[in-house]
Amino acid sequence: MRVLGIETSCDETGVAVYDTERGLLAHALYSQVELHAEYGGVVPELASRDHVRKLLPLVRQTLAEAGLGVEDLDGVAYTAGPGLVGALMVGAAAGRALAWALDLPAVGVHHMEGHLLAPMLEDPGLKPPFVALLVSGGHTQLVEVAAIGAYRLLGETLDDAAGEAFDKTAKLMGLPYPGGPELARLAESGRPGLFKFSRPMTDRPGLDFSFSGLKTQVLLAWQASDQSPQTRADIARGFEDAVVETLAVKCERALKQTGARTLVVAGGVGANVRLRERLQALVAGPVGGPSGPKLFAKGFGPEGPPTGRVCFPRPAFCTDNGAMIAFVGALRLRAGQHEAPAVTVTPRWDMASLPPL
Ligand code: ATP
Ligand code: MG
Ligand code: FE
Repeated sequence: MRVLGIETSCDETGVAVYDTERGLLAHALYSQVELHAEYGGVVPELASRDHVRKLLPLVRQTLAEAGLGVEDLDGVAYTAGPGLVGALMVGAAAGRALAWALDLPAVGVHHMEGHLLAPMLEDPGLKPPFVALLVSGGHTQLVEVAAIGAYRLLGETLDDAAGEAFDKTAKLMGLPYPGGPELARLAESGRPGLFKFSRPMTDRPGLDFSFSGLKTQVLLAWQASDQSPQTRADIARGFEDAVVETLAVKCERALKQTGARTLVVAGGVGANVRLRERLQALVAGPVGGPSGPKLFAKGFGPEGPPTGRVCFPRPAFCTDNGAMIAFVGALRLRAGQHEAPAVTVTPRWDMASLPPL
């Protein structure tokens, strides 16, 4: 089954074709980042208009790259939420129109389920149960995945998302938009330990997060500093270490609590190199150095096998893309799930309400 996937929830137009037999056949992405740069953030109305301009050329380009015509498609999937309502409407209207014209089934995909299952695009061996850390521009969640479509929220951010914290912190230190990846790049040349920021909410039980206070700590440190390029890098490093460590502590807790042996990490912040390294070390064995606590699989003592593994999508599939939407759409369409031909989007949408596969 060959499925066309369309992603337009925010400021990236993504299109892909996924074949349930042969895997990903082609994908293309157009980022509106330059369009929004002068405003320092995504302007919803401009985003919608740019999706209108770019979507159909991108569909043509993706089909050409896959060597397919529209008649070769068996279904259409588009992001139906969560996201910006106008931006979502563009993808939903185009997806629905194509499906109507071609007499194909179409399904609205949950954007965060797309992020969540993106690691499966390249790792067919990955199967639930697992714990997923979703860290993106709008979400920071720990989710227990019992099966595809069966999601239980274990914890989430009470204020800023992790990606949002990266973006806002970058902005207050004067880094160009979009700040998150830029801040991470800068942290590479920063020295660890010179600026120590707190690890919010790690000192109390539970799996919720809070990142907005960190931003204020950075602002105060930045204002009190000499504001030299090296200091900026050192602060960036201190901030990144605080976020990474906080996420790692909660991931470890979630694995212990659920007894899961596999950790899946997805969303834009999943592209962060230091986070990838830290979580790799977490599941590989000793945590916090040789004397630190060890993480053991449920039912095993210290002599039993240590935990399993951590899975990430490739960095390009951590951030928004059409491939993850085509993939989830293909799974759901193959299971016979699709909706009536109406253009409906759900800008706020709880993943726990999704139907099982
Ligand atoms: P959501 O998926 O919650 O609707 P979104 O689609 O805007 O939000 P993504 O595209 O998944 O989010 O991710 C974008 C976010 O990832 C941005 O906040 C960006 O700063 C962050 N990000 C991207 N690369 C990195 C990196 N290397 N280190 C840290 N953060 C990063
Ligand atoms: Mg984006
Ligand atoms: Fe996203």
